[in-house]
Amino acid sequence: MAAKIVFATGNAGKMREIREILKDMDMEILSMKEAGVNADIAEDGATFAENAVIKAETVARLLAAKGDVAYEGAIVLADDSGLVIDALNGEPGIYSARYMGGDTPYSAKSADLVKRLTGVPDEKRTARFVCAIAAVFATGETVTTQGVIEGRIGCEEKGDNGFGYDPIFYVPECGCTAAQLTEEEKNRISHRGKALEAMKEELRKRIP
Ligand code: IMP
Repeated sequence: MAAKIVFATGNAGKMREIREILKDMDMEILSMKEAGVNADIAEDGATFAENAVIKAETVARLLAAKGDVAYEGAIVLADDSGLVIDALNGEPGIYSARYMGGDTPYSAKSADLVKRLTGVPDEKRTARFVCAIAAVFATGETVTTQGVIEGRIGCEEKGDNGFGYDPIFYVPECGCTAAQLTEEEKNRISHRGKALEAMKEELRKRIP
């Protein structure tokens, strides 16, 4: 039977990406909902990695509590990500989703960040998307990986693809914003893509 991976997310885009990156490994990849786990997890860690570990360990505990033999030996993965802006002392950072309130549209959150950078010259508008991924193995071992994409905050929104802060995140290596890249192009260079590729290596070391 293929090893099972349960990804602690309700986000269809993240599920698509992890399935694509791990497709050459003999593993069955399920969302936590597909595995029958529902949880509203308080992300109260101080770093992306701490929050990813909190999510993965919580879902692993809930999954184990179900006592379903089909999930014996399953690996639980979780991620946490966000935008770190140097000129704003790392804001919004681990609070990226909650910045100005969880229900505030990203156009308003982005406009606010751009406004706070008024007068900041291009070379000081450096920023990065960071993604941490945590894996909890059936042995109890926890492993984390991290991926980063460097960029700059633009002066206005550009592009209709992507999500979140993508329209204000200019990627110098591509000459456009993350919202002007196709999903495939972005996955190849993104923080999440890099963290997932690094996690794939960690899985390879542990799965025969
Ligand atoms: P979470 O990791 O799903 O909790 O997302 C964290 C926050 O960072 C959300 O507000 C996202 O919009 C933002 N974020 C993370 N990755 C990206 C990205 O690739 N593009 C745009 N925003 C992102």
